[in-house]
Amino acid sequence: MSAAPDSGQLGLFGTPDDYVVRRSRRARRLSLRVFPHGVVEVVAPERAAERTIRRFVADHQDWIGRARREFGVAAEGCGVEPPRQILLGAVGEQWQVEYRPGNRRLRVVPGVAGGELQLAGPADPHWRVQQLRRWLQRRGRAVLSPWLAELSRETGLAYRAVTIRRQRSRWGSCTARHDISLNCALLFLEPALVRQVLLHELAHTRHLDHSPAFWGLVERLAPDFEQAEKALRGAWRSVPAWVNHDPG
Ligand SMILES: [Zn+2]
Repeated sequence: MSAAPDSGQLGLFGTPDDYVVRRSRRARRLSLRVFPHGVVEVVAPERAAERTIRRFVADHQDWIGRARREFGVAAEGCGVEPPRQILLGAVGEQWQVEYRPGNRRLRVVPGVAGGELQLAGPADPHWRVQQLRRWLQRRGRAVLSPWLAELSRETGLAYRAVTIRRQRSRWGSCTARHDISLNCALLFLEPALVRQVLLHELAHTRHLDHSPAFWGLVERLAPDFEQAEKALRGAWRSVPAWVNHDPG
């Protein structure tokens, strides 16, 4: 649906600003989206000229500034870069990332509560981020799958299979066949919120909707669910930009 993203540095028409451009075959006109971590994404028709896109972003500087302030991020641009450190709040892990030249390889050196990721390969930020996302997904599988299994035993709510994905707009989902999918970005949240998502999806194995019966079950499983559900809506800002956005 979209080609390789490119990014722009705006200088000609307004204050310098970072944004990423996503070309879409389906897009008929330019549109803007501001993500909770402040990244601005422009969706553009495949043939839109760079110049038109820059002008469009410049024309919407006020709107972008307002949207970013609503998310509590500075109005200044925030570029996407491969991280030096990855903090996984869900499991209290801190990973240092080291980049080095050499044959493509990710070496995971576990330490106490985290460790070191030694990523050898080209100094290409796109490639680096891709490798780290893959690792994040593996880490998500290692952490979230057993966690879900444990809660399933605890609650007696059975599911069929679990997949770990990297979704942009949902923490998890559950199908009519009781297949649960979980977002690897859950690793960045505090344990109580992860638990809430897992219980929420397990409750969907009984009720596929968000009916009063569903929430009744959720309340029995997690009496303080309302607070957690509310916190989850704003928790996207805990997810570092590199997880969902490509470097400029
Ligand atoms: Zn739901």
